[in-house]
Amino acid sequence: MSSAEPTIFERIIAREIPADIVHETDTIIAFRDIAPQAPVHLLVVPKTSRYRDVAELAAGDPALLAEVVATAQLLATEHADGHFRLIFNTGANAGQTVFHVHAHVLAGGLTEGSLAH
Ligand code: AMP
Repeated sequence: MSSAEPTIFERIIAREIPADIVHETDTIIAFRDIAPQAPVHLLVVPKTSRYRDVAELAAGDPALLAEVVATAQLLATEHADGHFRLIFNTGANAGQTVFHVHAHVLAGGLTEGSLAH
């Protein structure tokens, strides 16, 4: 559920702070990561703030998780060659900094093996 302190992604969804939005539906928003780690680095974010991470989303709304994956595929096709790497940092010790579930979509000239080690 929503906490008292909205995350940065809730503020982007509410248009309180700007983002380079590339895709939006009733349930999902996608925008460019402010600190890109690949030629194409997008964040696919369910609009609901009910789920902190992908494990909660998978347990609570698998259809919405499938929508996140389908959106990643669509955006990788629109912005690159259709090939993509999908990353869900899950937990602070794994590098998660925003506790509103989101997928990183990396695409376009990925170096073989980068992020795989
Ligand atoms: P994570 O570390 O997996 O929680 O990912 C959070 C991501 O959000 C990081 O890659 C940040 O660069 C990105 N980020 C933080 N603030 C913004 C913002 N205002 N607009 C776009 N991306 C952001």
